Amino acid sequence: AAKAAGRGKHCFYEPSMHSEATDRQVLENDLRQALDRNELWVAYQPIVRAAGEEISGFEALVRWNHPLRGPISPDKFISLAEECGMIGKIGEFVLRTAVAEAARWPDTVRIAVNLSPIQFNDPHIVDTVAAVLSDYGLNAARLELEITEGVFLADSDMTDSTFARLKSLGVRLALDDFGTGYSSLGYLKKAPFDKIKIDQSFVRGAASTTKRNGAIIRAIVTLADSLGMDTTAEGVETHDDLWLIRELGVSQVQGYIFGKPMKGPEAREKANSSRVEAEGYQCIREPRH
Ligand code: C2E
Ligand code: MG
Ligand code: MG
Ligand code: MG
Repeated sequence: AAKAAGRGKHCFYEPSMHSEATDRQVLENDLRQALDRNELWVAYQPIVRAAGEEISGFEALVRWNHPLRGPISPDKFISLAEECGMIGKIGEFVLRTAVAEAARWPDTVRIAVNLSPIQFNDPHIVDTVAAVLSDYGLNAARLELEITEGVFLADSDMTDSTFARLKSLGVRLALDDFGTGYSSLGYLKKAPFDKIKIDQSFVRGAASTTKRNGAIIRAIVTLADSLGMDTTAEGVETHDDLWLIRELGVSQVQGYIFGKPMKGPEAREKANSSRVEAEGYQCIREPRH
């Protein structure tokens, strides 16, 4: 709620000057040119083995530096990109940039890239992924594709064959934002995921709020273990939460406690040192972009 309330505050213009529809149209036009104008870039957030403080990989997260409005959150422009047919190009830019970056890291460090359901259901997606891996010489096992259950809405034969073809390429598949959608259990049965990412809404403050979040995380871990899948807890910010997540047997941790999304060179440095330390702060929010 705080996030929604803070939205738009960084804008340098007065939103009430335009109708919402006009504003959207303007933003859409800007987004169409963002790639060519080099306004998009990719940030990397560490994913750390829960047992130690060893980096298992990084998640690639796209960023948009709008020339007038400043940084715009992907929560805002990814859906816009999906609606206006830009997501294929933007997604491929992120994939290419992230794979190129990961090719410079030690080969124990993975790269995770988010795939929009629209990208996933593009008939060329498997060829695109294969081409990008081969262009940069990255071993397929080091690439993890994060998808949400939105991919199952199409539920075509093609969805099934895409899963199978991606698996035979050797890439890993993660089910993102687990627990926030509708019938996630059925999807776990259908698709060959290597990992479940436990949504932040169960993780953040899990140690302090209610016992319920802990119980839900425990159940997800049990389920994942018996299906032979890894788990990553997203949104770990405090030492208390980290302690609980470890206690509950989650395999990996991602959250501000181990680092916010960072630029390529900083990620490269961390990848090379292969360890990150938990920060001492508690519940500090990412500065508004
Ligand atoms: P996601 O894939 O679930 O990514 C995790 C989000 O949680 C990121 O937000 C990350 O910055 C944030 N996060 C991680 N740890 C913490 C923490 O400890 N505290 C808090 N408060 N937040 C944390 P971000 O980068 O704003 O991205 C939001 C969403 O936008 C992503 O959620 C993903 O759904 C989408 N997205 C980002 N990049 C891409 C992309 O390249 N392609 C597609 N299709 N979607 C993307
Ligand atoms: Mg993700
Ligand atoms: Mg997520
Ligand atoms: Mg998310």
